[in-house]
Amino acid sequence: MDLDLWWLLLLPGFFLLGWLAARVDMRAVLKQAKSIPAGFFRGLDALVEDKTDIAAQALTEVVRQQASSLELQFTLGKLYRKRGENDRAIRLHQSMLDSADLADEHRDAVYFELARDFRKAGLVDRAEEILVKLLNGNMALQARRALLDIYQQDRDWSKAIDTARELLSDAHSFQHEVAQFYCELAQGELFRSSLDSARELVDKALQANRKCVRASLLKGDIEFADGHIEAAIAAWQNIEKQNFDYLSMAAERLFDAYEKLGKPAEGIALLRGYQKTFPQLELTDLLYQKTAAYEGETKALEAARESVHARPTLSGVYRLIEAQMGALSLEGRMDAEVARAVLQKHAQRLLVHRCKCCNFRSRAFFWHCPACGEWESFTPNRSETH
Ligand SMILES: [Zn+2]
Repeated sequence: MDLDLWWLLLLPGFFLLGWLAARVDMRAVLKQAKSIPAGFFRGLDALVEDKTDIAAQALTEVVRQQASSLELQFTLGKLYRKRGENDRAIRLHQSMLDSADLADEHRDAVYFELARDFRKAGLVDRAEEILVKLLNGNMALQARRALLDIYQQDRDWSKAIDTARELLSDAHSFQHEVAQFYCELAQGELFRSSLDSARELVDKALQANRKCVRASLLKGDIEFADGHIEAAIAAWQNIEKQNFDYLSMAAERLFDAYEKLGKPAEGIALLRGYQKTFPQLELTDLLYQKTAAYEGETKALEAARESVHARPTLSGVYRLIEAQMGALSLEGRMDAEVARAVLQKHAQRLLVHRCKCCNFRSRAFFWHCPACGEWESFTPNRSETH
């Protein structure tokens, strides 16, 4: 019993020890906080306020005092680049490389930053030269990705294909991109009328990605240019199996091919079938023109009316009004003119292709989004609702 009471007397001692330990820890924390220069916090605060000029000034001062802080120098380099002060970024990274303190394992990372500086400054050749040298080190993956970007920007598709193949991983096969790179090459060959090599390249595109719609479009163009009209039709019709949304891009080509074979009625029937099965395709205008040319205005108007009533669109209603202008009274025509003008104004604003990745809108269609760099991300039919 006496022994138990004696133990109780020790309790305040434990509390005292705990309190002392906490106090020592706090002191260490405060000491560490004091060792971070005030300029660092000033720079951080300015960054939060988006005042990058003050941030760059404050952090430059800190780096001058503590030249050994590697992470801070990396941040400062990025900040210079963001502000467009590429010269300062280049000088900073070069001085890091010259420093005797830089450990070997960080050397490649600094070179990588220097390559980014050169690229931002428009000195792409110098950036490429550095990145190629990094391909065997610990920054190989980042360097290869940056090189792929550069080759696409330079339209150096052969190098882009090789680089994408080397980047191939479980997470990203790059087959989608490789097919587009082959299409770019094929397009160039078609432009130079080298039909055989264009054909070879398109086949390679389809081997990389059998769903590549652009390859089918090109394949049809090549066969058409070579006088193989039926083969061209087969290539374009293949788009239905790949991604039917793109059929509107092949529609006029298909009709021209049937016309060349002397079978315009078959061409019109095919397009009508597409319109019925895939009402989201933009075919009303084309069908109206071709039907009017081969079957007369009355038939064309009937067909346009049927499709617009089934799925009203701005361009369809516009076409409907225009087709009936001639039959209206003078007053009726004046009213229709106003309606047509309003429709046209809205259609010009709303009828655009849209990038599904970054929402960039454009009246022209692109296979490669000029805003975000994604491939095949543009809507093939100009959206009216989004
Ligand atoms: Zn985009």
